[in-house]
Amino acid sequence: MLHPTFATPDLTTFCRLDELGLVAVGQLLEPGRATIECRVVDDDPWCRKCGAEGAPRDTVTRRLAHEPFGHRPTTLLVRVRRYRCAHCRRTWRQDTSKAATPRTKISRGGLEWALRGIVVDHLTVSRVAAGLGVSWSAANAAVLAEGKRRLIDDPTRFDGVTTIGVDEHVWRHTRLGDKYVTVIIDLTPAREKTGPARLLDMVEGRSKAVFKQWLAGRPKEWSKRIEVVAMDGFAGFKTAAAEELPDAVPVMDPFHVVRLAGDALDVCRRRVQQDTTGHRGLKGDPLYDLLSRHRSRLTHRGAEPLDQHALVSLICTLASFIPVESFLARSMLVIVPYLLVPAGLAATAFAVVAAVLTHRFRRASRS
Ligand SMILES: [Zn+2]
Repeated sequence: MLHPTFATPDLTTFCRLDELGLVAVGQLLEPGRATIECRVVDDDPWCRKCGAEGAPRDTVTRRLAHEPFGHRPTTLLVRVRRYRCAHCRRTWRQDTSKAATPRTKISRGGLEWALRGIVVDHLTVSRVAAGLGVSWSAANAAVLAEGKRRLIDDPTRFDGVTTIGVDEHVWRHTRLGDKYVTVIIDLTPAREKTGPARLLDMVEGRSKAVFKQWLAGRPKEWSKRIEVVAMDGFAGFKTAAAEELPDAVPVMDPFHVVRLAGDALDVCRRRVQQDTTGHRGLKGDPLYDLLSRHRSRLTHRGAEPLDQHALVSLICTLASFIPVESFLARSMLVIVPYLLVPAGLAATAFAVVAAVLTHRFRRASRS
């Protein structure tokens, strides 16, 4: 049985102002906005220059956007005391760095809420800006800076990485047209089945040079620990990996293997269809139905996250249709020892798959 203990309602702890070194002293509730008047808890009377005790001179205010409560933007109106040193005449303000970084307009609690909203809850920047009661650009700049500080500048984020994936991503409809980025992913947790893959880095552009430069920027000890690099069929990534990580095994990631296999099926089916019937595939044609069955099987396999065993077994099943003494089949046998499919051989595998299926399609279309 849970025996909750209720405390007296308290605005300071409810709004988590205690974590910011603030105490609530007043509230102003309006339909679209709540303002909480605060004071800084810690006195700050010692002169930064000579160490003598200063005397309070006056009070200034600092406005900080805080996390919203009940869809109502909440602003902190912080009364900050100013002191003057009796000895050297220097003036200073109470330290508010626990509440917000210097010269920013969003509290640390507000930033935490915004970053969590964007990264975890997939809120838009507009929604976050409305929640904080600030402009779109202010919210965007703050989230980018906080994300960089908390996630990108984290010195431990490259630790323990042994398997990386590289892929390209395109942002459509930016002000400068389509923009390409090279995305580097840590696949170690997925490979060791300890958790999901995680984003490691993003670099503007997509080329061999971009990926090679990124790899060259890593410390030598880090590069030595990389065992596997997964990628799509882009030759530039493969060359970059071979030059910068000569000991790592380049592999084609299952998503791209499955997609290429699916495309190969389509091309193959269309060619056979034209050859044997002289027209495009229609519903009811034996070939059309066969394709749908294969497609759904491939799609189903593709949905399993990084299941190399399933993929290898699929390719081996397909390869078993051709005689072992053929050159292509021997190439297939080289693939099996790897848990991931080596990139160079994956292309061969598709040729095999296509050859096998051409045969099967021909037979199906005649029946
Ligand atoms: Zn002084």
